[in-house]
Formats: sequence, C-alpha cells, structure tokens
Amino acid sequence: MTAAGIYVHVPFCLTRCGYCDFNAYAGLDHLSNRYVRALAAEARLHAPGWAGVPFTSVFFGGGTPTTLDPVELVSLIAELRRTLAVDDDSEVTVEANPDTVDTDSLTALRRGGVNRLSMGAQSFDPLVLQALERVHQPSSVRRAFADARAAGFDDVNLDLIFGADGESLGSWRHTVEQTVELRPEHVSAYALTIEPATPLGRAVDAGRTPSPDPDGQADMFELACELLGAAGYEHYEVSNWALPGRECRHNLGYWERRPYLGLGAGAHSSRDGHRWWNVRPPEQYLQTVESDMVPIGGQEFLDPEAERLESVFLGLRTSAGVNASDVDPDLAEPFVHEGLLEERDGRLVLSERGLFLANDVVLALTG
Ligand code: SF4
Repeated sequence: MTAAGIYVHVPFCLTRCGYCDFNAYAGLDHLSNRYVRALAAEARLHAPGWAGVPFTSVFFGGGTPTTLDPVELVSLIAELRRTLAVDDDSEVTVEANPDTVDTDSLTALRRGGVNRLSMGAQSFDPLVLQALERVHQPSSVRRAFADARAAGFDDVNLDLIFGADGESLGSWRHTVEQTVELRPEHVSAYALTIEPATPLGRAVDAGRTPSPDPDGQADMFELACELLGAAGYEHYEVSNWALPGRECRHNLGYWERRPYLGLGAGAHSSRDGHRWWNVRPPEQYLQTVESDMVPIGGQEFLDPEAERLESVFLGLRTSAGVNASDVDPDLAEPFVHEGLLEERDGRLVLSERGLFLANDVVLALTG
C-alpha cells in the first residue's frame, strides 16, 4: 500500500507577520490544551478509514507548533502512533519559530520522537526581518540553531524569504552565506508574494509599500541557486535545496501525489483523487470535533484527466521532472527552444532558469 503522510496544523502564533495569509492567529494560546485534545480526537475519528495505511511522515506546521507546550506535543505524537499506523522510522518534523524554542524544549521534542526541525529564519538582515514584521533577530536564529544541534537534531531546515521591501542583492547574499555557514541539512527559499487580504497586501494596494520587483527577485533566486549549489546543496524542487539524501520526505509525498491526512483547523487531506479540507476557524473546528464529528469544510473529486494534469504540474516543479510523453510536444517545444525546459533521458525537466518561471511554464504546459 502507498505510504502516506500526516499533516498537523497548529494555528497559534506569537504575533501575526504582515505578509502572512496562513490560517494562523495571535492571542489564541488559551485554546491550546483543548486544541491538542481535539487533534487526538480527530485522529481517532479518521482511524477506521485509514486502517492499514502506513504513514511514513508526520509534519507539524502552522502557525507555530512550538508555541505548544513540548510535553503536550510529545504526548500528541505518542497518541498519533497509538491511533494510526505510523512507521517506527517515520520522519517527524516540527516547524519552529526561533523565539519559541530553547535547549530544554528542543531536547524534550527530540527525545519525544521529533527527528526533523524546520525553522523560520527568513533573513539574516534585521531590516528585512523588520519589513516582514518578524519578531526575531538574526542572532535568535543562530542561537536557536545551536540549541537544535545541542538537543541532537541532525536534520534541520531553514526557511528563507527573498524580495522584501528594502532588501538588496547584497543583503540577500549575506543571508544565503550566513545560512550556508550554519550548514543546515535543508534550505527552503521562497519569493515574497503579496496576498491581498494581509496588512502588507493592503499597504501595497494603498501605495505605502512597493510591490516586490520580479527582476530583482529573479536575480536573488539565481544567486541562491549559485551559492547553495556551490555549497553542495541539491536543488530538488523549485523552492527547496537539500544536502544529498536529506530531502524532506513529507513534502516529496505531496509532489509525488501520495495520500496525506490533514488534522487541525483548515488542514487539507488527499487520497485517491478525493481532496477535502477542514473548517478554518479554530473555535468552529474545536466545537465540531468535540461533538464527535469529522470537521470537513469542503471537498472535491478529481477526474482522471485532472489527476494527470496535477501529476505533470507537480512533477515539473521537481528535479525528477516528468516523462516527456506526458506533455504535448508542441506546447513544450518553445520552452525547450528558450532553454527553460530540458529533455534528459526521455524526461522533461525545468532548467535552473526555468525553475524561477516554473509557475508560468507549468501553467502553459498543463493549461
Ligand atoms: S509566524 Fe509564520 S504562520 Fe505565524 S504569522 Fe508569521 S508567517 Fe504566519
């Protein structure tokens, strides 16, 4: 049976960052105990339908999962293992904000079965962190990273964002160089996008903040490819680099279209062409689960053609690419001609330049 993943959404944050449109809230910490109980209860509600499915990854995302008490997080992992068929050697990732962890909390997580940490570093330039309304400083990332190593984490990801207001190419170079110096096993780097329903989106709309410059972001992406590649990181998905063998197993599952079960407010699930998502407001989620009901907010079924297109869409974003025969050659040819797409051993793979334009290329090939 195909291995599956579990995604657990924790919607609590210390503060709201101005660019963020995730299902995350500051000031709801008083719900956390109830919320952890509801996550365990939701897993039990799903257990009969997923009986016998082997889970090889668990990913706690958010929000900021490390706002939860580590003891509660660890007991939730144990409960998930009792309820669902989680493999002993599963990858168990927790997303962390540098200001919410220390050696003690990280040691508790490591001993409790968390074997991968994904930290939101975003930048090593204080002015960029300020523009992103992040509460931490570059020094907090270095301190939290050292704490993670001291706690025994040998699989750490650092998340970076490029293209914030005021960020120069030189500043971005500094951020990538500082990242490489720490030598995390994995790096994710995302171009800042402006979401309309966020404080940053409204500031851009009102002309108070400039929109990110796409040419500048392209230069930053190219620089990241160059510096991370030179430091031995393999570029295995548009926004993701890993030291050899340290790719994120959970995220590979999404791109390879393996099934996943989402638990928590607004979490998405997918299995055999059926996709569903939970209600988003935490209070509504809690009340539904506490009434012993699965908190589904909506669902859709993909027909075989939609599934095929999705496989191409996701496959092209990875270094594995797709079978050349899965793409209409007339649609692919102009991109091959422009050097955005390359044919290698019967597979079509985006070139480094094509990876930055992945969305446009992939849409043109699957649209
Ligand atoms: S910490 Fe992450 S999830 Fe929370 S508001 Fe900031 S960007 Fe969003």
